[in-house]
Amino acid sequence: MALLDRFRAFLDASPTSFHAANVAAGLLEAAGYTALDEGGAPEALPAGSKRYVLRSGSIVAFRVGANNPATAGFRLTAAHTDSPNLRIKPRPHLRDQGYIRLGVEPYGGVMLATWADRDLGLAGRVLVRDGAGQKAILVDLRRPLCRIPTLAIHMNRGVNDEGLKFNAQKELPALLALSDPGASGATAEPLRALLAEAAGVPESNLLTWDLALYDLTPAVISGLNAEFLHSARLDNLASCHAGLEALIAAGDADLPATTAVLALFDHEEIGSTSERGAQSAWLEHLLERIVRDGAGDNAGGLSRALTHSWLVSADMAHAVHPAFADKHDGEHMPRLNAGPVVKQHSAQRYGTEAEGAALFMRLCEAADVPFQWFVNRSDLACGSTVGPLVAARLAVRTVDVGNPMLSMHSIREMCGTADHAWMVAAMRAFLSGVG
Ligand SMILES: [Zn+2]
Repeated sequence: MALLDRFRAFLDASPTSFHAANVAAGLLEAAGYTALDEGGAPEALPAGSKRYVLRSGSIVAFRVGANNPATAGFRLTAAHTDSPNLRIKPRPHLRDQGYIRLGVEPYGGVMLATWADRDLGLAGRVLVRDGAGQKAILVDLRRPLCRIPTLAIHMNRGVNDEGLKFNAQKELPALLALSDPGASGATAEPLRALLAEAAGVPESNLLTWDLALYDLTPAVISGLNAEFLHSARLDNLASCHAGLEALIAAGDADLPATTAVLALFDHEEIGSTSERGAQSAWLEHLLERIVRDGAGDNAGGLSRALTHSWLVSADMAHAVHPAFADKHDGEHMPRLNAGPVVKQHSAQRYGTEAEGAALFMRLCEAADVPFQWFVNRSDLACGSTVGPLVAARLAVRTVDVGNPMLSMHSIREMCGTADHAWMVAAMRAFLSGVG
């Protein structure tokens, strides 16, 4: 399968962060990576070991280098698995005017209007009884199930002047069914039966869930010359996929001295403060273990290892929009299909300084990849990502990069088709110890 086909398959198979991390684990397994039991007894991690740790919506994978990280350092890449969406509340069923609607809560910076009038599926994890305990089961109800209908323009005459607006509490709940028993059955909570069936358990065993709505439209290549890719969740599954491709391909022929690590975090869109987010101690604990249980000289441990290390944090970047070019700084204006973007911000909303930017420039040079800059307009507030958080948590030098895209945080985003292979190549050079 060609790279863009693998990319599209990854996007389509990953409606939620839980699915993305799970699909990533499958790709890693196919490449010879095996699961490491975080709570299990210590085991040796000799040079060349290829392991991963999956924690629901987050995953960290690593390939131990020829030398212990205490002397050779880590080559860390990070991205995030989650995207803005609409989460189903624990008691979602609402009955109004003969309809059953599902109460939702926006997750992250959702562009609400883009969710209107779409064919929406439902995916996530359900928690079910398991003997005396409980377990999580991934579900994906991949069929048109819900819709957030707009109000006719005849009753909303100002819509084109004032914009399409939804009150998240009152107007966003998603239509699921007609409540007329003749039309849809008389079950008080029809979603429960649907989920129990999808999980393959009796309804009485269903406890609760983390579920999100998603757009059923698959990723497509578009444009006159196939220069665009349209999909949901490009921010930031594009970087996750590039990191996976790079790690799997990196250094197989010749094991580098450095240890390659790929960390794909959940919860970036809501600030990364969680047990598996970029602000957690999770990655730090894993790195500590690699230093301790890896081959060779581990004297000095993690703090020594981190002084020899680099983090490349990848998250999507703002391409210039033809109608809104004045939203950009004219000298730092990324274009689609012009290569990966180095993102810099003086207040460290991006973790890049000249040192990291210079490293990434040399990586691109070595991989024959074009690169471009993004610096926010000086009079606009800047976004951020996992880069500065991991940089601060680990005390590791960092560069923030990402491929350019349009429609960020829309239910349907777009990027260029040429940039993905370039990002894979640059990351592959990085994880192979180049530069
Ligand atoms: Zn992002």
